Amino acid sequence: MNFIETRGNDGKHPLKVSFSDAILNPISSFGGIYSPESLPNLGSDFLSNHLDADYKSLARNVLNAFEIDIDAAVIDEALALYDTFDDPTNPVPVTRVNDDLYVSELYHGPTRAFKDMALQPFGIVLSSLAQKRNENYLILAATSGDTGPAALETFKNRANVRVACMYPDGGTSDVQRLQMVTEDAANLKVIGVKGDFDDTQSALKRLLGSESFRQQLQDKKIHLSAANSVNFGRIIFQTIYHIHSYLELVRQDAIAMGDKVYLNVPSGNFGNALGGYYAMQMGLPVEKILIASNNNNVLTQVIQTGAYDLRSKAVIPTTSPAMDILKSSNIERILFDLFGAERTKQLMAQLDDEKHYQLEADELAKIQEIFVADFCNDDEGKQYIKDAFAKGYLMDPHTATCFKAYDTCRDNKTLKTIAYSTAEWTKFSPVIANALTGEVDARDLDALKSIAKEASIEIPKVINDLFTKEITQKRVIEKEQIEAEILAFL
Ligand SMILES: *Cc1c(COP(=O)(O)O)cnc(C)c1O
Repeated sequence: MNFIETRGNDGKHPLKVSFSDAILNPISSFGGIYSPESLPNLGSDFLSNHLDADYKSLARNVLNAFEIDIDAAVIDEALALYDTFDDPTNPVPVTRVNDDLYVSELYHGPTRAFKDMALQPFGIVLSSLAQKRNENYLILAATSGDTGPAALETFKNRANVRVACMYPDGGTSDVQRLQMVTEDAANLKVIGVKGDFDDTQSALKRLLGSESFRQQLQDKKIHLSAANSVNFGRIIFQTIYHIHSYLELVRQDAIAMGDKVYLNVPSGNFGNALGGYYAMQMGLPVEKILIASNNNNVLTQVIQTGAYDLRSKAVIPTTSPAMDILKSSNIERILFDLFGAERTKQLMAQLDDEKHYQLEADELAKIQEIFVADFCNDDEGKQYIKDAFAKGYLMDPHTATCFKAYDTCRDNKTLKTIAYSTAEWTKFSPVIANALTGEVDARDLDALKSIAKEASIEIPKVINDLFTKEITQKRVIEKEQIEAEILAFL
């Protein structure tokens, strides 16, 4: 399968690229991104043929349907990483919360958040391509918490890839910071930056635009790639668990094969939701995809009104920080898929220049055939955490936003809903402890202990060990020093 550009071709980039080119060099014409030229149709028997398949076999066959140019042995090695999840026979457990709400838990991997689902296998794929081509790659990441740990974990000691990861000093949770600063490998560099996440991210953007930096990379023969969800190498692994979760509902006798379901996704950059959209286009019986946001509700607005409007908006810090996003990158792939490259280029240029666009009525209708959206503020989220816990389900604040959309967005109450849980309770424990016991401003370790006590569960060892592990990545710098720091690392 080939990949083409969401904003059309500028005559300088190739018209079509392979999967491996799209993931090694994700930058395309006019600032667009690579999308599949067409989507595979899984065919009517695919689901029933995979009813008894384990996660890895399902994944292999979904990937095969995309006809990507990755050796089977590499794919097998990549998928084998799901064996390191809590339950190797089922890396994504689906838990029944009530008669029609099921939660698909995407956080049972090494860093306890959903980024592992895609980044774990992606690390193997990227590193093996780099080795095959005898090229060296640098992944630059600015993180507010979840992508950083998952990217470091997957690229640790992998050949031909180096990662430089910047986080806002004081702007992440203790657990997230410890997950990064205790990573010890020669190909990883973790840098605390004085300032907030926006400062860190704009420092990274400046670096990417810096001519001297580019020249130095060229001299050192180092290529830049990206590990954010603009990279299709992550999205492809995010189609699989939607199909798996559906099959789990059939296996649990919650639905009959062929019944429609709602998918309910806590969204930021829209990678998770895009995976659901692709699964639906490939033949998964989905009624609609419920898009849950927090107070940064641009996605709610665009899906409800067709207006993507960033004028007079600034990021609002919330208790679900992985969703504190205004420019949701993967919406662009939906625009491209539904309205084509020319229209996508027009809309995205308007968003860049004027900070807003408005979809036409017929375009909005097409979006609303597939998506429905609502947002959940922090107080509502806290209440959902409390209520779910009272009924026996412990969840994190990102997952909680889904529970609001579940309440408000379904037209057909006879259908089952699959909500996606994107982080374990251990990643955002102060918020959860506050919801459950009322304690305020607890540090992570105290919050973890009080939740563990409240729920009569243990703190997982990988999290507990962080607090006594040696801190190996000690650099905290001013944002002006980033370029020099990274060049020194290289
Ligand atoms: C990344 C992330 C999200 C948002 O996912 P997108 O694919 O960017 O929409 C939600 N919750 C958590 C915990 C995350 O890490």
